[in-house]
Amino acid sequence: MADIPDSHPRKASLISRQRMVEASKRGLLAESAMIAHGRGEAFDYLLGERTSDSASLAIREASARLLLAERPVISMNGNSTVLAGSEAIMIASILGCPVEVNIYYRTSERMESLIGELESLRDRLGRDSPKMTRESIMGVEILGAVADGRIPGLEGPRSLCSSQGIEQADVVLVPLEDGDRCEALVSLGKQVIAIDLNPLSRTSKTATVTIVDDVARAMGRIADVLLENPTTTDWNNEAVLIDALEIMSSSSLRIG
Ligand code: ATP
Repeated sequence: MADIPDSHPRKASLISRQRMVEASKRGLLAESAMIAHGRGEAFDYLLGERTSDSASLAIREASARLLLAERPVISMNGNSTVLAGSEAIMIASILGCPVEVNIYYRTSERMESLIGELESLRDRLGRDSPKMTRESIMGVEILGAVADGRIPGLEGPRSLCSSQGIEQADVVLVPLEDGDRCEALVSLGKQVIAIDLNPLSRTSKTATVTIVDDVARAMGRIADVLLENPTTTDWNNEAVLIDALEIMSSSSLRIG
């Protein structure tokens, strides 16, 4: 892709699109990944491609809950690995928690590729970091290769997970989850922090804290906010979904 000038108003979106295209060629993504990404792009366009105030509040709440968690985990699929893999490693290194690859269309090839991708992102981040943080980054465990855990309430390969990750977690940060799995995790008593640009998805409606924002923007911000030691509030998740819908429905007045 030709260099996109910094002044281009949709530069970040075009870069993400290109990353998806390249990752798809490398076999990291499911066939339907582009469709899911396109749906996200449409919602992001309506949001003005920026983090709203209510999404910022959700990011603070999510960060506070992750800091309080006893066994947090970050669950990554293909799209989130491609768009926010480095950010996930940063968050995990701050929390001292594992990252687990957990995908809807599970094949051993894609599992291996995604685990390999996260390991190389971790190694690159570690190499480029100052000595102070290098050790915690290199210590981030990437789970998923051993599927010795189960998520009750789901059937077939979708119920598989790691006994060291999602199975025993009390708080799961899961960008781009599907609705069934989100519901199953919540019904197990786990707190689910979802990042989903669609405020109407089952995931958004079911999660404990929903961040209606682009996965790369939101994950980058979580890594920053964690360092500010935020505290939890009396969280009203429905309010952030309603706010996102209001922003989207008034967007035609803002654009152009
Ligand atoms: P659900 O099962 O929760 O109702 P769905 O079936 O509508 O969800 P999926 O196909 O499982 O959705 O996943 C796509 C979801 O991910 C969409 O809701 C889309 O808005 C969201 N999404 C896609 N790309 C991004 C992104 N970059 N950042 C955040 N969310 C995204």
